[in-house]
Amino acid sequence: MKDFVAERAKVLTPSLTLAVDAKAKAMKAAGEDVCGFGAGEPDFDTPQHIKDAAVAALAKGMTKYTPSSGTPELRQAIAEKLGRENGIQYKAGQVIVSCGGKHSCFNVVFATCNPGDEVIIPAPYWLSYPEMVKMAGAKPVIIPTSDASEFKITPEQLRAAITPRTKLFILNSPSNPTGSLYTRAELEALGRVCIEKGVLVLSDEIYEKLVYDGAQHHSLASSGKEFYDITVTVIGFSKAYSMTGWRLGYLAAPEPIAKAIDAIQSHSTSNPTSFAQAGAVAALQGPQDHLKAWLAEYTKRRAYMFQRLNAIPGVSCVNAKGAFYLMPNISKVGLAPMEFSKQLLDEEKVAVVPGEAFGTDKHMRLSYASSMANIEKGLDRIERFCRKRAR
Ligand SMILES: *Cc1c(COP(=O)(O)O)cnc(C)c1O
Repeated sequence: MKDFVAERAKVLTPSLTLAVDAKAKAMKAAGEDVCGFGAGEPDFDTPQHIKDAAVAALAKGMTKYTPSSGTPELRQAIAEKLGRENGIQYKAGQVIVSCGGKHSCFNVVFATCNPGDEVIIPAPYWLSYPEMVKMAGAKPVIIPTSDASEFKITPEQLRAAITPRTKLFILNSPSNPTGSLYTRAELEALGRVCIEKGVLVLSDEIYEKLVYDGAQHHSLASSGKEFYDITVTVIGFSKAYSMTGWRLGYLAAPEPIAKAIDAIQSHSTSNPTSFAQAGAVAALQGPQDHLKAWLAEYTKRRAYMFQRLNAIPGVSCVNAKGAFYLMPNISKVGLAPMEFSKQLLDEEKVAVVPGEAFGTDKHMRLSYASSMANIEKGLDRIERFCRKRAR
């Protein structure tokens, strides 16, 4: 048969996280007792008042197209939120609501990267970034990091990676998969390199609300006009409001970039779902007290997991400051992460995501967005698995 598939689709790597998840789900469906650490979404339900607002909008007949960049109410609510909480002044017209933060990131890459442009991505990275870059015909340039730097890059590393072809730097703090968080000073030091070199920053701040131990999340664009002018801020509703299935995220950008993205979106997805946007307005303007309970729960699980992992022979783990993942180093166990995760699933029925998915051959990602019972049982099994291999 004739090959109809485009080059841009052929360069894609299928999502490894989804593959592990699919196998674990199939085993579960077959009645096996699987402990899953693969979850990339909160295990809490969407707060009730948010659901109610969407249901009310649906009942009132909010079932038609909205403006492509989102309803005026939601864009205004987002602009106000960014001013109030993040210290960044955007007009509603600079805010674009998309079908998830992932779609927002995709739009930024598509609106700014020409074929042949280079995009700098620190590893371990969120696995969709390099794929989006490749789809745009641009080239991912990976900066590796290690446990020793808490998976953070230095301004010197960033400077060394920049070439005349560099268009974009993708920064994700707090990070999926590492949980690392840049301080304000660290972010500004990276931002200054980008200002000097004329590099745009995609600042993915989707985990802004999930930070621990009194740490502070900081938005790069709030650091002053030079920073603001080179930054696109991406946030969303999936992580802070447990709205992953609603498919709603947003970005705020300097006007020419926002305009370009609006044009792209208007010809691809049109608008994000109408009544879901009404729920999002309620999310931003309603009570935020669910977060306190969620953070308390994540804090407890993270502490437990951190302590258990570091007690396992051959395993060491940097503590995360944000998001809901830990990324233990398993290089001393003597198996590459992919092999480790395959054997672990077969032998102990524990699902983890191997580091290769995120650009590291020394780590695996464990999500603590699951029950304490699951975490306890899973860690018992991981410990048994590793002890059998300890020399
Ligand atoms: C979850 C996530 C997103 C966005 O998720 P959506 O459900 O598309 O809003 C963006 N970036 C990172 C790093 C994430 O983990």
